[in-house]
Amino acid sequence: MRRFQPVSTLALAAALTLAGCANAPRDSRAAPAPAAGVSQVPSQLPRNVRPLHYAIAAAPDAANLRFTGEAQIDIEVLEATDTITLNAAELEFASVTLDGAPARVSIDAEAQTASFRFAAPVRPGRHRLDIDYSGKINTQAAGLFALDYTTEEGPKRGLFTQFEAPDARRFFPGWDEPNFRTPYDLSVRVPAGQQAISNMPEAGREPQADGSSIVRFQTSPAMSSYLLFLATGELDRITTTAAGTEIGVVTRRGAGEQGRWALESSARIVPWYNDYFGTPYPLPKLDNVAGPGSSQFFGAMENWGAIFSFESILLVDPSITTEARRQAIFEVAAHEIAHQWFGNLVTMSWWDDLWLNEGFASWMATKATAALHPEWEPELGRVDGREAAINLDSLSTTHPVVQRLTTVEQISQAFDAITYQKGEAVITMLEDYVGEDAWRSGVRTYIQRHRLGNTQSDDLWRAIGEASDSPVTDIAHQFTLQPGVPLIRVGDAACRGGNTHLTLVQGQFSRDNKDAAPLSWRVPVIAHAGGRALRTLVAGRTEVTVPGCGPLVVNYGQAGYYRTLYAPAQLASLTRHYARLRPLDQIGLLADNWALGQAGYQSPAAALDLIDAAPPGANSRLTERIAGILAQIARMYAEDDPAHRDMLARYAFARLEPAMTRLGWRQRPGERANDSVLRNELIGTLGFLGHPATLAEARRRFAANDASVTAGPLRETILGIVAFHADAAQWERLRVMAREERNPLVKVQIYRLLGGVRDEALARRALDLALTDEPGATNASQIVSSVAAVHPDLAFDFALANRARVEGLVDASSRSRYFAALGSGSVDPAMIDKIGGYADRHLTPQSRAPADRAIASIRDRLRVREQVRPEISRWLDARRG
Ligand SMILES: [Zn+2]
Repeated sequence: MRRFQPVSTLALAAALTLAGCANAPRDSRAAPAPAAGVSQVPSQLPRNVRPLHYAIAAAPDAANLRFTGEAQIDIEVLEATDTITLNAAELEFASVTLDGAPARVSIDAEAQTASFRFAAPVRPGRHRLDIDYSGKINTQAAGLFALDYTTEEGPKRGLFTQFEAPDARRFFPGWDEPNFRTPYDLSVRVPAGQQAISNMPEAGREPQADGSSIVRFQTSPAMSSYLLFLATGELDRITTTAAGTEIGVVTRRGAGEQGRWALESSARIVPWYNDYFGTPYPLPKLDNVAGPGSSQFFGAMENWGAIFSFESILLVDPSITTEARRQAIFEVAAHEIAHQWFGNLVTMSWWDDLWLNEGFASWMATKATAALHPEWEPELGRVDGREAAINLDSLSTTHPVVQRLTTVEQISQAFDAITYQKGEAVITMLEDYVGEDAWRSGVRTYIQRHRLGNTQSDDLWRAIGEASDSPVTDIAHQFTLQPGVPLIRVGDAACRGGNTHLTLVQGQFSRDNKDAAPLSWRVPVIAHAGGRALRTLVAGRTEVTVPGCGPLVVNYGQAGYYRTLYAPAQLASLTRHYARLRPLDQIGLLADNWALGQAGYQSPAAALDLIDAAPPGANSRLTERIAGILAQIARMYAEDDPAHRDMLARYAFARLEPAMTRLGWRQRPGERANDSVLRNELIGTLGFLGHPATLAEARRRFAANDASVTAGPLRETILGIVAFHADAAQWERLRVMAREERNPLVKVQIYRLLGGVRDEALARRALDLALTDEPGATNASQIVSSVAAVHPDLAFDFALANRARVEGLVDASSRSRYFAALGSGSVDPAMIDKIGGYADRHLTPQSRAPADRAIASIRDRLRVREQVRPEISRWLDARRG
């Protein structure tokens, strides 16, 4: 699965504000979770029965949001029992028999199980369950769900499934846990004029008297229930062939050509993975199915052979798609396709190891993108992921990468930045430590050894360890079984005999518990001082000798998951030589020092001095990071210190204008792809900061209905600026644009932008709008979230006052984190009690972790305002003087 990630700059501003919210439990000082290496795979079902094969026939009634199903499940009874318990959620049973004998059915809605009780004990051995049942078609992405959209011919409805984490049980009764792998035979009744897509190609189609058809699919390989997929609707499918595999993109009718970029990208990615994994893509075809609309919490899902992606992260409309979005579409496809091996062919035994699935797919996507599109410099973006992870991992509310998960809600909450980005960062570090070839060789062994099977993290470490002959398992355990972020303190260096001598000390980086005794890690460190890079493991206090006497960079290449705190003299030297460092190290060094300044390890002026030292013509990703930090500082001053906000804005204008002048508003033929990305970022940030010329130009284009506002890659950015600074008339015009928009890709963008408005009265109107039928269920929750990015208190209070209706807009399993996230950007101490009170009243102890995390991030923000902001103010004052 791929988490929801907005791409535009104003959304970036929102992401920064909301960072550190959606998350799961664990006390950072608690003992490591014992999940890896545990031989018994957790289960919420009795172990006396296991499924062998499912045949499922579904008949949806899309108009009435109901469906009926017939499931024939071949099972093996392992010990005699008179009761068989399996998963079922919101299903109604018409008839249940075992080998023809009827069962009495009882339901446990809380546990999401159904139990079938038989008159006589069932003997061990093979049996067949026949189940007639019915269920709900949801309007949020869980189980079988509907997505509505409008066309020239009128409203249309497509049906799709989303089963991860545990929502297959909303579509069929079964053993809905990843460790139960079986083949599936799926069939579905579709109305006349509609198509159906599943994991496997169509095996046959039987026309029915009423004009509908029963579509049967080929038998799937043995796989986990969360990977089954079905879509029906009026669909287009475009195809190509790559390395013998049929690749397809499936869209609503008429939009097929917009899938061309994803299709061509997938056709390049699949052969690259065939080679990397050493095992060819295992199914006869691979589709990527586009769903209109969007979800608050995920962008795409790796169903085996039938990836599902929301349109905004799959389709390219040349008239609106930005370069950043085009790159994101490639990268998301690369992530989901990586799962076809790592996750689908080999699957984690239990959700405890979800991180391995997601961390690996994220890492692999960057690797494939770097190989196939080196001009995008995706490895420079890895610092963004590291920072997102450390942001969560440096608060006491963090949790280890491998965590014990028991409830459905905990499993759902596990899709967080620790699982994805820390997972990716740790894998990046370990690959770098054992070497690219040994790592790939270990991965190939792992895939071959466990194909069509289930694993735990240690199975991968074992294979990598064999290939590399290194203590990778010990290091991996320290970074995955215990929470938190190592800190490497770099002592004063001395140059002797052409080498740099110094001391490195391992500690722990924390934003809210600096004085606690640090946990221990053996940290793979690379240090560089102008000569050959030194590679070493740092544990405790370590004396090192680095070849060369130039400026010393620790975490050279930025592959390490740790913070680096330099002695003042070292940092001064790095600042003097900053312009000459490699872009990757420039970006990593700035990120590190900005975070260290905010956490109180050193003055925040250190990072601002680095920004000052950035060269003209800096790498575009460095310029983006500078823009992001300056926007973040501007927000620190937004409410109560207009004087320093203005000073900061003027400094930001001076820093960013040269790059903007170089790029201009108009895309040049043949310009670097990352220049197109940077143009949007700069216009967005300058617009957000109220840069007069940028704001005036955006408004002029909007008022004139300029071609760049009605189409083209600047459209969303320009509309975002206008929306943020909108008056009532401009806001209303945007709303009319949203309402009349036919293209679902554009429609969701504009509705989201309507929420991102600074004027409080208009923000209230956006909230009221979210509760009407106008935006559509899946767009409405995004309006509320984008209000929260600018007005967290307003959005949280509104959502709580309308709790039942707002809950109706959000996927059921995501509600606890959704509400906490709304308030998490607040700078009002009262919000701490509000979120706490909400958690006390409405959340169980198992599901309140996101609320605790939101509270921790608010406390941290208040500390930064009190302790760090004055130092930034002094830096700004000094520059003015
Ligand atoms: Zn994923």
